[in-house]
Amino acid sequence: MLAEEKEMIDIKTVRKDFPILSREVYGKPLVYFDNAASSQKPSKVIDAISHYYEYEHSNIHRGVHHLSAEATEKHEESRKTIQGFINAKYSHEIIFTKGTTDSINLVAYSFGNKFINGGDEVIVSSLEHHSNIVPWQMMCEARGAKLKVIPINDAGELLLDEYRNLLSIKTKIVAIGHVSNALGTINPVKEIIAEAKKKSIPVLLDGAQAIPHLAVDVQELDCDFYAFSAHKIFGPTGVGILYGKENLLNTIPPYQGGGDMIETVTFEQTTYNELPHKFEAGTPNMAGVIGLKAAIDYVNEVGINNIDIAEHQLLEYATEQISVIKGIRLIGTAKEKASVLSFLVNDIHPYDIGTILDRMGIAVRTGHHCAEPLMNRLSIPGTVRASFAFYNTKEEVDVFINALKKAISMLS
Ligand code: PMP
Repeated sequence: MLAEEKEMIDIKTVRKDFPILSREVYGKPLVYFDNAASSQKPSKVIDAISHYYEYEHSNIHRGVHHLSAEATEKHEESRKTIQGFINAKYSHEIIFTKGTTDSINLVAYSFGNKFINGGDEVIVSSLEHHSNIVPWQMMCEARGAKLKVIPINDAGELLLDEYRNLLSIKTKIVAIGHVSNALGTINPVKEIIAEAKKKSIPVLLDGAQAIPHLAVDVQELDCDFYAFSAHKIFGPTGVGILYGKENLLNTIPPYQGGGDMIETVTFEQTTYNELPHKFEAGTPNMAGVIGLKAAIDYVNEVGINNIDIAEHQLLEYATEQISVIKGIRLIGTAKEKASVLSFLVNDIHPYDIGTILDRMGIAVRTGHHCAEPLMNRLSIPGTVRASFAFYNTKEEVDVFINALKKAISMLS
């Protein structure tokens, strides 16, 4: 059944949708395994953005003229597409931001100012990206609150009993990655949310690494906030999403002041606009928002479940192939993983492997992957990380494995 479903993605056609995949690097065909950092863009996204600038651009919301009305309509259509994609109840629960980092900063600031006081606690986990640590740390420092951290086992899985013990009346919010960018662990977020709900504690999910790989249904998850970036899901850079439950978004104060987020302004007092505009101060990234819609439409055409299955098969294949190489140490061996193969080889520095692979046309990422506390927990300086998208192939994995073997023999 899996094999049949895999064929539901016509890999040759799909690869043609991404112009960059046919380029060469150092005279070798590009093998792009750095999708967790940023994924590539299909022509439909690139064309939607060009078309917008060529024929449709005008500032939204405030204009009486045709172009402005049309651009506004497109902007709001994009919001509805995203609402559908993550199954939010209302389109005004979709806030356009600059990206995951911006979305999390928004919640840390606004939620923190409203609800977090001295002695309160915020729970994150050992797996988090810096984007889901530092904003909370800054907020805790400002409000006199404490950051609590869910520990992990050596496979890179959260210890749920420890999590349960951390939850208390002092906990004001739980902020957890849906999928780890450094190890690929898929966290049991439904269980994490259900535990928090028993104590009426809101949960934010950092969905940066989940959204391109897994079907996300925010109502089914019952999360309070969900953050992601367009550029990880085949969309443009500089735009992202914060989903928030209507009642919470209505309760917390605006993050930034400026045009569009107001209802009326006098020097004495300003009243704020309704959702979603209350959180969208200033001229937004309109081309980005339109590009994101094109990306989501594209993903819907391919099918997120087909993507999930194809990538899962690729990860399994790559894991099998790499595991038999002598000296390989896989970093992150959780039972539930998505699209990330992190590893070390003997005592070779990850950077050296990355540099040699690059010369063979293979793009991987090396280093701490913006997860320094996780690297400290695992007592490693960093890893080599190959991260896959559905447009990657088994043949590319073979090229990577052969190149890796060569790199190891050169460096040993
Ligand atoms: N969280 C995770 C898990 C990520 O992987 C990333 C990007 N590497 C971010 C947050 C930050 O995303 P952005 O830089 O697009 O804001």
